[in-house]
Amino acid sequence: MKAVRSSGNLSTELAAIRLFRKLKITGWRRNSSLQGKPDFVFSNSRTVVFIDGCFWHGCPKCYRAPKSNEAYWQAKIRRNCIRDATVDSELKKQGWKVVRIWEHSFKDGSKLEKLLLRELLPPIPYAFPA
Ligand SMILES: [Zn+2]
Repeated sequence: MKAVRSSGNLSTELAAIRLFRKLKITGWRRNSSLQGKPDFVFSNSRTVVFIDGCFWHGCPKCYRAPKSNEAYWQAKIRRNCIRDATVDSELKKQGWKVVRIWEHSFKDGSKLEKLLLRELLPPIPYAFPA
C-alpha cells in the first residue's frame, strides 16, 4: 500500500497546483491552520479545498477493504469519514464553502477541470452599461 497522508498527498496536491496554473485559478494558499487542515484555502471567495485520498477517506468508488485486519481498517476509515463530516459542518458554520476532490478525479483531467472552474472561479460580474 502506498503511504499517503490522510488529507491527500503531495503528488495530488502538486497536480492540483498545476491545474490551478493552467486554469488561471489564483488566490489560494496552502498550509492552512483552519480546522481539518484544508489543502487549499481561497480566502477571497471563502472557499476551502480538500483533496481526499480514496483509501483513507473511504471513497465509495475506489475503497476496497484490505484483506488483513479488515475490522481495524473499517473502523479507522469510518472514523476518518466521521471526522471529515464534522470538519465540513464546522467550516460551513463559519461561512466557508467546502469543496472536496477525490484523488481518483485526477485520472479524468477534463472532468476535474470543469469542476474546478465551476467551484473555484468567481462568476463573471455583469458589467452595467455606463
Ligand atoms: Zn476514488
